[in-house]
This record gives sequence, C-alpha cells and structure tokens, in this order.
Amino acid sequence: MQQDHSPKRSMLIIGGVVVSAAIFMAAAFGMSGDPAAILVDGQQVAAVKDEKTAASIIDNYLTEQSTALQAEVFFAEDVTVSAAAPGSDKLSRRQALEALDEASTLMLDGAVILADGQTIASLNSEDTAKKALEYLKLSYLPEDSTLQVIDAKFAEDVTVQPTAVCVDDLLDLNEAKLAMKGQDGSPAPITVITVLEKTKTEDVPYETVYKTDRSLRYGQTQVKQAGVNGSREVTIQLVQTNGVETARQEISSNPLVAAVDEIILEGAMVQTASRSTTYMSDSGMIWPTTTTRISSYYGERGGGHSGLDIDGEFGDPVWAAKAGTVVAAGYNGSYGNDILIDHGGNVKTRYSHLQTICVEAGDSVDIGEQIGTEGSTGNSTGSHLHFEVIVSGDRVNPLPYIK
Ligand SMILES: [Zn+2]
Repeated sequence: MQQDHSPKRSMLIIGGVVVSAAIFMAAAFGMSGDPAAILVDGQQVAAVKDEKTAASIIDNYLTEQSTALQAEVFFAEDVTVSAAAPGSDKLSRRQALEALDEASTLMLDGAVILADGQTIASLNSEDTAKKALEYLKLSYLPEDSTLQVIDAKFAEDVTVQPTAVCVDDLLDLNEAKLAMKGQDGSPAPITVITVLEKTKTEDVPYETVYKTDRSLRYGQTQVKQAGVNGSREVTIQLVQTNGVETARQEISSNPLVAAVDEIILEGAMVQTASRSTTYMSDSGMIWPTTTTRISSYYGERGGGHSGLDIDGEFGDPVWAAKAGTVVAAGYNGSYGNDILIDHGGNVKTRYSHLQTICVEAGDSVDIGEQIGTEGSTGNSTGSHLHFEVIVSGDRVNPLPYIK
C-alpha cells in the first residue's frame, strides 16, 4: 500500500519555466544577503547563505528530478524559503540539497490501477497504466497458436485513475505486472478471464449394427460391411482464469464426412442332434421339435393350459430349447415322461408326454441337443409335445420365447 499524499503544489509555470513560489515569498523576509532557510511544512531543514541560494537549490532539485523522470515533479509538502533561525549553521549547496531530498516527498501526475477500489499499482501516466493492464492480459495468453483469443477481461472492477502519485511508489511495466499477479505466493489481486476458441477436425467413430442371419450357424459372426470413421469440424471454447483452464465446451460442430456403419451378421441357425436345422429366437431359445403346428395354446381350456402343445408324430425328436442343466427326467404323473431343464437366470423349460427320454438329471445339455422323442404318456390323448417355459417359478406363455 502506498501512503496517501495530498500534494501541495508550490510551483508556478511562467513562460514555460518552472519557478518555485519560494522565490516570490523570499521578498517578504528581508534583504538579500541574510542567511535563509529551506522549510518543509514549516520545519527548517537547511540554512544557506541567502534567499537566492535557497530558491535556486529548490528549483534545481525539481528541474533535475523532472528531467530524470521525464515528468514534471512537485513536492507533496509545502516547501518554502524563509529567514534562517538565529544561530543556524549554514550548509553547502550539496548538503542543503541532501537535507531537502531527505525531508520532502516528490510527486508527479501519474495514474493508479484500482481493483474493486483497492490501489494495486502506481504508474507514471494513464497511458502507461493502461499499457500495464494489456501487458498483464498478454502474459496469460497461451503459446498455442491454434487458439484464437475471443475475449480477455477482468473478474474485478478494474479502473485506471489519473492522480498525483508518489515518485517512490512508481512501478515500471514489468513491476506493475508482477504486482497485479500477486507476489511471493500471495493471491493475484487482479484476475484475468481469457476466452479462447479452437477449431479442429476430429473423428466420428462408426456405429456397429448387428443383424441376424439365418444362413449362418448360431455363434458365428461375419462382417458384412466394414465400419469407417467419419469426421467433423468442431469448435471448442475454453475459459482460462489467470492462465489456468476453468471451463471447456463445444460451441459448434459441422459434419464433414459421414461415418459408415459396421454391419455384423450374427448366425441364428442351430444344428440339432438329429441333423435338422432350426433358428434361434430373440430370447435365445429354439423351437423344440420338428413340427410347428400348434394344437393347444397357453391359457386355453378355460385358462388352465400351462404350456404349449405342439402336434407331432411318435418318435419325432425333442430338442433342448436352450443350453442348460437337466433338473429332472422321468415319469411325472399326468405329465407322463417328463424333462425339466434349468437354463439359469430363473428360467426353466419342461417337455412332457415323451415317448422316450435320453438324458438324466444332472446332465448338461446344449441348445438343440436331442433329449427325447415325442409320445403320448401321462394325461394325453395323442402324440404331441407339451412345452412349458417357467420364469421364477411361474409358467408363462412359451410362444414368444421360441417364435
Ligand atoms: Zn399340453
């Protein structure tokens, strides 16, 4: 923080020459030739041989400092010339100049940079202060030349205020930049928000589409069409806070080349143990026998039919609708010769009224593997397969599972 100086100018400009008011005051205290004193805010700081010498020391000091700083300087204090106190030791010009330099404060018409009302830096002119702020913004710009600068602004209310500033507080451009960035680990008093944009071309990954193909065996796949990535032009906006990325978003996108889907054929054909082929449904089950004529749907007979009756001949093969483990295989009351297979995931299938059974409880079976033949055992009036799908213990309509 700088001190608050309220400059008290004691300078007049006559015909372009800077003349201290002291010269005019000198006439007030007596004859030339008496010892004179230089006073700062009324306090004597140096006694010299006469008033003319005192006035010229002050004027030379101001002129030299103005030249050195390339700006017109003035005292913060009232600097005057008066009669020396009786008994004062007279100083040489050099000694008097040093005493004046020590006791006074030089000011100039410069400018301060304020952030939310706080003075951050003093500079020698309004122009230099504005330049320092631009210099600060530039210091945070990334080196990446593909980034376009859209905006650079301050998070705080940052202003440049022309005012008299103390010469001792003046900062050059680089010092001002450092002061605004915060030194020695202190937080930056001024926050620069930079908005950048980048346009680039990027790949658009192709999609993979699966299609069922009945000419391929189940488990086989074939690439029908190779996928090709497309491309697009995308514009990304980045926000940086004091050079650190704090936000990123896509603001526009233009397709350049459309992606080509990859098409993969998935086989659905299931080769059964009896060398017939059948096709897998979306549920992953196959139709469990050779014939497809349905003689009684699920829910028929007053809602009481617990499965699907598929008409067929004695001896027609019966296939496991899906791979699984045989839970039970044997005579089971009204079901007759009966097989129950657990497929995992709380799904089981049942095959009833069989003529023969060719698996045992505990066997693992593959999809399409023959497990028996159609018959009319148990509560049955003719050869057919009674097929059930049991989900979490409930017998459900089998048709959607095998169609
Ligand atoms: Zn039935």
